Amino acid sequence: MIEVENLRKEYGGFVAVEGSDFTVPEGEVFGIVGPNGAGKTTTLKMLAGLVEPTSGSARVAGYDARDAEMREHLGFLPEESPLYEDMTATSYLHFFADLYDVPDETAERRIHDTLDELDLDHRDRPLGDVSKGMKRKVAIARSLVNDPDVLVYDEPASGLDPLTTNYIVEFTRDLAESGKTVVFSAHNLFHVESVCDRVAVMNDGRIVARGSVEAIREEYGRTEYHVYTTVDVAGAVPVDDARATVRAAAGATADAGGVYRRVVESMDAVEETRELATAAGGEVADIETKTPSLEDIFLDIATESPGVEGRP
Ligand code: ATP
Repeated sequence: MIEVENLRKEYGGFVAVEGSDFTVPEGEVFGIVGPNGAGKTTTLKMLAGLVEPTSGSARVAGYDARDAEMREHLGFLPEESPLYEDMTATSYLHFFADLYDVPDETAERRIHDTLDELDLDHRDRPLGDVSKGMKRKVAIARSLVNDPDVLVYDEPASGLDPLTTNYIVEFTRDLAESGKTVVFSAHNLFHVESVCDRVAVMNDGRIVARGSVEAIREEYGRTEYHVYTTVDVAGAVPVDDARATVRAAAGATADAGGVYRRVVESMDAVEETRELATAAGGEVADIETKTPSLEDIFLDIATESPGVEGRP
């Protein structure tokens, strides 16, 4: 369980995070999404007890995030996690299990099972010689050696190929299904869509949208209809480039007038356009339905939302 209330971090007058509020129950995956500098890492570091909040509170597994005891219940994956290059995956993970005082037998079983679940080969190669994706998997395995209740992952799949990204993102889902609380950050909505129960979109230090990806899509992802008419109607603009194809679609004759496009957001407005075109002696030649991609939605949210005071 994670409970964040009115969390704020200011660095000498610069507001990195402002008024963050969210709760993540056990068994849920929560995504924090946002462009560079939005405040994702600062938020996660406050959860991990690595950055002291200026005000507000962050509670993790029932403890204040600043409480040293909290760390026994936390698995944190930093954005960059340099590993000891001379160690093998297995020896490296045993080293961390020792730091957490995990009994040898438990550590042996846990490390073996986690590496199996992560489908990690080359467990006995020095970490300096393994691929970036494998290094990231080892860092994830490290976050699990103490069998934590809460996992806080900063960009777990950043810079990895799509297959490994998918694997890691799906793995976080499995962790939540086993009862853990998972929060992770990502740059865009793609990677989070399939695994996150809910997301918070951050921009300029503030959460500017939140909910399930589906709800965000519904709220911000308005479908547009591009209605092409053979006559000028109110709100339409002439479209030169589409003239030939649309005319052909309409069966218009070569000497007919131009083609016009009216962009509307409802089927009623499409119907109204049809009536306007008919009244003007023309017709609707074509209708295109434009459903925004997640990327479009994300860009809209990020660019339209106001930032916080204290950010230049
Ligand atoms: P990215 O996707 O690039 O990792 P982010 O969303 O994780 O970005 P943060 O790293 O949390 O963003 O940074 C938020 C803002 O706070 C940035 O403008 C950053 O420069 C600033 N910031 C972060 N840490 C510090 C610090 N220690 N001192 C001063 N400013 C900081």
